[in-house]
Parts: sequence; structure tokens; C-alpha cells
Amino acid sequence: MTSKTFFTRQLLYWYDHTENRNLPWKEGKNPYYTWLSEIMLQQTRLEQGLPYYLRFVEQYPKLVDLANAPEDDVLKLWQGLGYYARARNMHATAKFIRDNYAGEFPKTYEEIRALKGIGDYTAAAIASFAFDLAHAVVDGNVYRVLSRYFNIETAIDSTDGKKQFSKLANELLDPNRPADFNQAIMDIGATVCKPASPLCQHCPIFEKCKALQLSNIEKLPVKSKKLTKKDRYFYYFVWRSPKGETVIKKRAEKDIWQGLYDFPLIESTENICADNDFSKIWESATWKRWTEDQHTKEIPVKISTTYRQLLTHQNILAIFVEVYGEIPNIFFADNYYTIIRIEDLRNFALPKTLQYYLEKDLFPWD
Ligand code: SF4
Repeated sequence: MTSKTFFTRQLLYWYDHTENRNLPWKEGKNPYYTWLSEIMLQQTRLEQGLPYYLRFVEQYPKLVDLANAPEDDVLKLWQGLGYYARARNMHATAKFIRDNYAGEFPKTYEEIRALKGIGDYTAAAIASFAFDLAHAVVDGNVYRVLSRYFNIETAIDSTDGKKQFSKLANELLDPNRPADFNQAIMDIGATVCKPASPLCQHCPIFEKCKALQLSNIEKLPVKSKKLTKKDRYFYYFVWRSPKGETVIKKRAEKDIWQGLYDFPLIESTENICADNDFSKIWESATWKRWTEDQHTKEIPVKISTTYRQLLTHQNILAIFVEVYGEIPNIFFADNYYTIIRIEDLRNFALPKTLQYYLEKDLFPWD
């Protein structure tokens, strides 16, 4: 028996004899539910994503319910899950399916892959799990299992690597059981062939695992790029007017947290207020423009500690400056900003860093 045939046979045997988790989206092969779960669980642990999935399904039981919802409501429900582009794309795609496919999820791999926010992995997952189409998923778990079992040293983040692993996974896939095969290979990567300390003694394919034979497990999978993260300093200004109002704005730019709300912001790539010296801020053109109608030069402020949020490609370091005074005219005049009662802040979809700040500093007594 070839090592490929052995791999597929053993994997499915293992899957059939392993207790599988009863995940709600697996019941009934509903492509909308499969899609929701796949989008929500990207870069997110199951325990974290599951409550969100359940809330979404309750609020929007059908794809058209999601399509018809206002974007602000969708983002509010998504709040805390991160990577907000996923929520926006999901909402746009729901509207697209409503308008172009009469609300029915498309049934071919090519049509699914063409939808916004759906890449190779998600398209294969929906095609196989919901429609039993023979398309192999290739995620981080699959790269790890295949690179080790076949001792492949091609970088998984290179174009060649992606092609090679995708071709191999599709060759291994059992066309009669694509959903089970895909689930099995991901499960074995998650529970047995783990990144550190894989459980080779419990692995159903250990007999023919090349990396195990060659003592090469720790080196695999190979990645070519090293991620360099940039720091972004966000100095947020939280106005607290005598009338109990504050200023917020919807993030419209193509950037992190698009569609969510935050406060007026001065951004820098470095810490311009070391040792709590804010003179660079008070001297900045932005601050002067904001406060040119203020009568007093001395505006009382309260400065928070630094809140850190580590994202995949960047570190956000946020410092919140509560400003006690009338809200400057510029914020009323500019449509970009919205004036709200400060206690209504929680009704808006906010980035995680702002939620923490609200709980810890702004409304700590609630
Ligand atoms: S034998 Fe070990 S390294 Fe090889 S596939 Fe199994 S768990 Fe992974």
C-alpha cells in the first residue's frame, strides 16, 4: 500500500472510531450555518467563537435576515470577536446572495469561491461540509500534518508551497467522503499532530510518517516570512462636556476597525508622550485646530494608562485623555463626528480596546 493510500484509509478509520464533537453547524448541512461558523472561527478559538455563532443564528436564523440587518447591528453583535473586516464582508456577501441568488447559497465551488470574504479554505469547507463536493481544505493544521507525514520542506507561505500542499491534499481526499476526510485531517492536526509536542504514539499514521522516521518533526512546517509588527500609538480624546456629552466618530478609512466607533484621535508611530509629557500633543496642529474656539488655554484633562491590543500585524497602544470642557464647535460642524450622551457609548459597536477602557476607567462603578 502506498503511503498516500495508507494516509487516507487510516485517517478515516481513526475518524470513524474517535468521538467527534457535536458542533451545532454540523447538523443538517446548512450552507449558511457552515459559512457563518467558518468565518467566525477564523483566527478565533472555538470556545470564544461558539457563543457568537449561537447569538448570530438566533438573531438572524436565515441568510436573508442577516442581509436585511443594518450594518451597525451586525457589527454590534460581532463586537469583541475582532478582525471586523470579516463581519463587513459577511454582511456584504449576504446581501449579494439575497440579490443575486434569491437568498439561496450558491452550490458550486467556483461560485462560492467568487464570493467576497471567501478564500480557498472557506470555499472548500463550505463545498465539502454543506454540499459534499470533493474539495480539500488546507488550513494551518493540514499544512502541519502533510508537511510532517511526507517530510515536505517547501515553505507553506510560498506560492509553490501553497500549490504543492493543495494538490497533495486533493489527491489524498476520499471523493466519496470529502466532508469526513476534511474534518478528520483538521482534527488530527488540532488534537494529535500538535505544533509543539505532537502525540506521535497515538497517531494513526505514525507507521509511515517520514518526519518521525527522520527526526525532523520540529523543523516542520517551514515558513519563509518572519512577521514584523509595527507599533501604532493612538491618543484618544474623550470629551466630557458639562451637559454629559462626548464626541465619537465612525471609522470609515480602510484600516483596522472599519465601521466601528472610536473617539477623536491623534496617531503616531512612536510614543510622543513619554513620561506623561503631553507637550507635543498640545503643540500639535490637530489639537490647536480642535480647540481654537476654547476660551481657556488650560483645559483640565485626565490621562489613562496605556492599553495594549496585539493584532496580527500591528500592536495598538492606546492612551485615553479625558477632556473636561465644552465640546469644540469643530466637532458639531464636521459630519465625520457624532455628539452623543456619554452613557450611550455602550450602544455603539466599539473596538475591544475601547470596551476595556469603558469598563476599567470610564464607567468602573457599573
Ligand atoms: S506521527 Fe507524529 S509527526 Fe507524524 S503525523 Fe503523526 S503526530 Fe504528526
